[in-house]
Amino acid sequence: MKRIVIIGAGVAGINAATKLVDNGYPGELITIIDKGNDPHNRLPEEVMTGMLGAGGWSDGKLTYHTAIGGQLSKYCGEEKAMELMKQVVDNFTRFHPQPEEIFMSDPQEEPEFIKPYFGLRMFPVWHIGSNFLHEIAKNWYSYLLDKGVKFVWNHTVYNINFENNKIELAELDNAGEITYDELIFAVGKSGIDFAQQLADKYTFPTEPKSVQIGIRFEAPQKYFQKLIDVSYDFKLYQKFDKVSLRSFCTNNNAAYVAVEETYGDVSYNGHAKKGKEFENQMTNFGILMEIKGIEDPFKWSRDVVQKLQENGTGLYYSPDNTRKPGLTSEGTTVSATQISWLDLIRVTQVMEPYFDYVTNFIGDMNKVFKFGDDWGMYIPEVKYLSPEPLVNYHNLSLNQFPNVHFVGDALSARGITVSGAHGIYVAESLLK
Ligand SMILES: Cc1cc2nc3c(=O)[nH]c(=O)nc-3n(C[C@H](O)[C@H](O)[C@H](O)COP(=O)(O)OP(=O)(O)OC[C@H]3O[C@@H](n4cnc5c(N)ncnc54)[C@H](O)[C@@H]3O)c2cc1C
Repeated sequence: MKRIVIIGAGVAGINAATKLVDNGYPGELITIIDKGNDPHNRLPEEVMTGMLGAGGWSDGKLTYHTAIGGQLSKYCGEEKAMELMKQVVDNFTRFHPQPEEIFMSDPQEEPEFIKPYFGLRMFPVWHIGSNFLHEIAKNWYSYLLDKGVKFVWNHTVYNINFENNKIELAELDNAGEITYDELIFAVGKSGIDFAQQLADKYTFPTEPKSVQIGIRFEAPQKYFQKLIDVSYDFKLYQKFDKVSLRSFCTNNNAAYVAVEETYGDVSYNGHAKKGKEFENQMTNFGILMEIKGIEDPFKWSRDVVQKLQENGTGLYYSPDNTRKPGLTSEGTTVSATQISWLDLIRVTQVMEPYFDYVTNFIGDMNKVFKFGDDWGMYIPEVKYLSPEPLVNYHNLSLNQFPNVHFVGDALSARGITVSGAHGIYVAESLLK
């Protein structure tokens, strides 16, 4: 039997290992390496690394639609994609200490009051909540340990030799290299620069991706309640020629904005906790534009994000300074430099000619939800879709190295169910 190494104990890596051991693959032959901490030692500020990866400290919204979060059905077809995503939802349910607390929203028709300004994407979503995710992570970890899976925490993989199946760890002292027969590369967004380094070194053929950039909007929940009652993670959308916009990753009730750091720059995201004690009656969501036709979208978005940094952090705008940056779930202020209306012109110039789409979207929302000046936005929110390595569709392996499988955000997924499904899909191919 083959020795399987998984780099990244995130959603994709953990689901892959689970599928393997659930089906009798010996855990002793599986090693998972992660640069972060195990679930008992992971700190709240470690948003992106450690057991369950970014998914483990996220909001835990498990979306169930192939149009959300990447292109899973491109690899395996629509029906298989749905089946794989359901397996991910089942895994989160299985390790949940109180599965009856999982909340599901499943809108059936677009409400009249959002027309004619917006369309609404309709799909089921299960909401777990960040605090329960931490408990799920602990239960899941013990299961894998019991099955014999070996974990290497706090070790960063900094080099892989695909030609002779060797992995080098930054912190490995005299312990030699780790070798593999099959490698699952599941480094998520926090490993995006490492993935890029490897892509450059081995000149992987890639598929071009569009740009996804925008802001994180925050306002009191009361304005959006009638839509939240229809759909917890509502996805409003508008479509134009080259640009389409959508609200993204909505957090409610106990909703917190989170700082995300990629390539050393600050951008924003959000999550929500479960439990009365965390409630703050706020709603936050991304407003993301997908822009077609930009020549080097990856470079363009990195450049834009870099230009939108001030005092070592991102920006925050609220009309007439009506609102200030909110508190994180740990009680500190969300790191952001508050800017005036005049500075907003600079943002418009940096994102030229696209930022107007965002402000118009907010203007249209104001017509429907009537929040006046009682809102703020954190700038920017970005989904770096680095060029996607070309993989064999049946097992997500690289064309040049068929024993190396790319999964999750490292393969341009954007979400928990899709990333987990990638992991399970690869595990199924290895079980064959
Ligand atoms: C604040 C926040 C909220 C989110 N909310 C949601 C949500 O509600 N719903 C949703 O669907 N998605 C959400 N997401 C996105 C979701 O978390 C990711 O899409 C998903 O976790 C990707 O899974 P992955 O396994 O590919 O990567 P990750 O889960 O990010 O895991 C990657 C792992 O690889 C490790 N790693 C990286 N580089 C190295 C290296 N060189 N050596 C060793 N280890 C390495 C990291 O430590 C990490 O643990 C959120 C993300 C954030 C940041």
